[in-house]
Amino acid sequence: MAKRLVQTLTQAGITNQRVLDVIQRTPRERFMPESLAHKAYENTALPIGNGQTISQPLMVATMTQLLIQHDCRHVLEIGTGSGYQTAVLAQLVEQVFSVERIAQLQYQAKRRLRSLDIHNVATRHGDGWEGWKSKAPFDGIIVTAAASELPAALLEQLADGGVLIIPVGETKQSLTVVRRFGDEFEQQRIGDVRFVPLVKGAVQ
Ligand code: SAH
Repeated sequence: MAKRLVQTLTQAGITNQRVLDVIQRTPRERFMPESLAHKAYENTALPIGNGQTISQPLMVATMTQLLIQHDCRHVLEIGTGSGYQTAVLAQLVEQVFSVERIAQLQYQAKRRLRSLDIHNVATRHGDGWEGWKSKAPFDGIIVTAAASELPAALLEQLADGGVLIIPVGETKQSLTVVRRFGDEFEQQRIGDVRFVPLVKGAVQ
């Protein structure tokens, strides 16, 4: 089943073998309600409770591939959600820091990652608009919810030479890659996407 998903991703243009291998061996069914497990290897987003979704595998693969083209060791993720994207990243970089605004999702993701023996991840309940200042700078930042504008704190917390991958927009969203060169930020739009909004403020 995972093999078929990898074929779909390859046909859709994912070329990085390390990304494909990690997706093939990560049990996506562990990151969703049991009642949906039969759909785990379909290339679709699925509901995970609290009005949120586990991202579509093609989007996870696309964003991960964009990130690891650069030398990313110390990575910040905003929007832990189910923890699936976190698990994929953790198998490709040295250390992942992940922030989620809904406490229940953060707690569940933390438990799942531990149960899969993934230990190079630190999770935090908080507002991703603020980033994670005490752990900055980051070589790479991935945001898995759509921001109305580029969050200033994330630009500040990006290392020189670092890369930020973020959907930007409201009804119309573009997957945007931002690279930092000293105090200059270079932006490139990759294509249209659809994510849940990056909401301001954390909730219990
Ligand atoms: N990558 C996740 C995607 C989850 S959907 C997965 O595949 O499971 C996006 C997540 O971003 C949701 O869990 C939502 O609660 C979270 N989110 C939205 N606004 C946020 C904010 N300001 N700070 C941190 N997380 C946020």
